[in-house]
Amino acid sequence: MRPSKQAMYRFPWSLNDNPIGWLEVTDKCNIYCRGCYRLNREGHKTLDQVKEEIRLLKQWRNCDNISIAGGEPLIHPDILEIIAYIKEQGMKPLILTNGVKLWDNKPFLRELKQAGALGFTFHIDSEQNRPHWKGKTEQDLFDLRLTYAKMVAEVGGLFTSFGCTVYPSNVESIPRIVQWANKHIDIVHGLVFICFRAAPMDGTFNYVVKGKPIELEVGYTSEDDHEVHITSADVYEKLKEGNPYYEPAAYLGGTQTHDAVKWMIGVQFGRKGKMYGSLGPRAMEMVQSTYHFFRKHYLAYTRGHKLNKAAFLLGGFDKGLGATHRQYWADIVRRPLSFFQPVYTQSIAVIQAPDILPDGRQDMCDSCPDMTVFEGKLVHSCRLDEWRLYGNYIVAQPLGAPVPVPAAPEEAAKAGMN
Ligand code: SF4
Repeated sequence: MRPSKQAMYRFPWSLNDNPIGWLEVTDKCNIYCRGCYRLNREGHKTLDQVKEEIRLLKQWRNCDNISIAGGEPLIHPDILEIIAYIKEQGMKPLILTNGVKLWDNKPFLRELKQAGALGFTFHIDSEQNRPHWKGKTEQDLFDLRLTYAKMVAEVGGLFTSFGCTVYPSNVESIPRIVQWANKHIDIVHGLVFICFRAAPMDGTFNYVVKGKPIELEVGYTSEDDHEVHITSADVYEKLKEGNPYYEPAAYLGGTQTHDAVKWMIGVQFGRKGKMYGSLGPRAMEMVQSTYHFFRKHYLAYTRGHKLNKAAFLLGGFDKGLGATHRQYWADIVRRPLSFFQPVYTQSIAVIQAPDILPDGRQDMCDSCPDMTVFEGKLVHSCRLDEWRLYGNYIVAQPLGAPVPVPAAPEEAAKAGMN
């Protein structure tokens, strides 16, 4: 069972008109997890540097929101000013956090809201180095996720989603995670599953930069090749096991392959205790086009997630909404009192991060939404450390391909290699 590109809408996002901008305010973290793309080398960026990056993202990307990431962004001393500045620039600040700084800390949560935060994506999974939660299963972590979801709901008016890196060790838990999220649809706005990716260190490839072999020192390496092949199609199967009504509405493909689905976004509908269906591609297209028509940029995140039931009127144009509408009324017939219950939306995003193809090409997300600013240019945030360590992207060469011999310094200078 694979998601079909023909059954989805291809997001109209591009390099220059993309609703998402990725801002890293620090590379420090308070837990340092497996699967993280970032090495701790430089610490916190200055407020001036961060503001400059925000302005550039707005100017170059036409962003609707800025994803504030790291490292752990909530440990940056100027986080409140950063959030306020993004808001002042007319964009929505979304915080990607491990949540440790927010544990039992509602006053800080209120301050973040007051500064203008749109909400949070809490990264919680079973392979993290989270104090007091090491060695726990995904099911054990439901209590932790629920504590955060309740805390944010109590403060109110904020978006809450949960991110989970997908490894062979937790892929089988996806149906249970989806069911947990569906059960708490009133306070959980979305889920994000990121397929673990790392450069294989089993001798499959040599790594070179600007024609020179290098010792690979980025954080995203793996000795175990079979860890890095979980795809969005694998996750899709598990999502369907969790909620048979889940269907993705939109996608982004790969930059090299023609059948990979690198970003897959679905929006489910349901009330507390019952799921009804998913948004279809036509409605997603309408949302993106209308938002762009009126706001002049595309849409990635919204604060509210209660469905205005008038949206069912679009069921005539959109198969997904039409089927949802029918399920809704079938439910009302069976349980008339559910007519008075709100219907919510809940998104599920799947990201299949870069794949190194057998010939060494790297299949990135087409129109990458998570590009970030590095030394006056946009680079893929998942590969930022290649720029920080080696001044360029790394090239993977399949073993057996001729390894370039580094030129002597004077020959290299003549050839313009330095
Ligand atoms: S290519 Fe872009 S969207 Fe895809 S994993 Fe890398 S940074 Fe994220």
